[in-house]
Amino acid sequence: MSDIDISVAFIGLGTMGRPMAKRLMAAGYRLAVYDRLPEAVDALVAAGAQAAPSARKAAAGAQVVITMLPDGSHVREALTGPEGALQEMPAGSTLIDMSTIDPPTSKELADLAGRHGVRMLDAPVSGSSAGAVDGTLTVMVGGDAGTLAELEPLLSVLGRNIVHCGDHGAGVSVKLANQIIAGTSMVAVAESYALAQSLGVDPRLLFDVVSASSGDCWALRTRPPVPGVLKTSPADAGFRPGFKGALMRKDLDLALATAAAHTVPLPVTSRARELYARMTEEGLDDQDFSAVFTLLAPAG
Ligand code: NAD
Repeated sequence: MSDIDISVAFIGLGTMGRPMAKRLMAAGYRLAVYDRLPEAVDALVAAGAQAAPSARKAAAGAQVVITMLPDGSHVREALTGPEGALQEMPAGSTLIDMSTIDPPTSKELADLAGRHGVRMLDAPVSGSSAGAVDGTLTVMVGGDAGTLAELEPLLSVLGRNIVHCGDHGAGVSVKLANQIIAGTSMVAVAESYALAQSLGVDPRLLFDVVSASSGDCWALRTRPPVPGVLKTSPADAGFRPGFKGALMRKDLDLALATAAAHTVPLPVTSRARELYARMTEEGLDDQDFSAVFTLLAPAG
């Protein structure tokens, strides 16, 4: 059986899941898809996928089930709820959860899957929606190395760097460590732009100088938070995500809860999280997380 004879159920067709599912179809995989929003499913059906009315129905007959959902509660529901996928998955099939969720939930779901004879990999990604479209994501994998080796051709359709991080939960652990840097450095970039703006510094000049200086970072290079600096920045598209502020708040919540359980203080992460929580209060949850700048920008 060639790799593309594998039938795949893809659950969660949002900013990331939609382009990832499309890439798998373009590579020749047969896809059954489910999202709780019918319009998200329609977009994939137009591209040749088979629509399923539930996660359970999508999983029927699939050798691989991929979940790409907001958080652990959504993944748990999609797998173990009344219409969940797990009850339909045959022994020997594989579940790949690519969502960013907390390590304890991920490990618990891997145990539960194991009791059904289903193998699980946690495989969260980094690289934003552009990486999902281009297939250049970094994929951080936790679980059995042999299972990863078997599924690597499929994951290679989605990502360029596929890294085995360790046992179950190791992928999401590495992802949360990454999010601490991404979330706090975005706030630092926003503060830097807020100060520079009030001092009358040209935003394009700031970008050119800092991206060639010690302040250079991914948040700056992909998301200068004022329009007119970088065409591909969310700021140039009214802060359309990208990566939603609500998801960054969720990721920092997960990092803080995990750190608390291990008595590791994260004071900067904690302050950054407060700013993303303010985005929620201001109704900015669905904007890109770089819109955190709008909370800091000097008036006028
Ligand atoms: P999103 O909110 O755009 O999409 C999530 C999709 O899941 C939505 O279409 C929603 O309708 C669907 N959904 C929610 N609950 C469901 C359920 N129980 N059953 C079926 N469908 C359900 O989110 P996204 O940006 O695609 O992110 C997905 C995951 O990937 C998150 O964990 C996020 O943290 C992570 N992530 C996102 C990015 C990014 O740049 N957007 C980058 C890396 C990782």
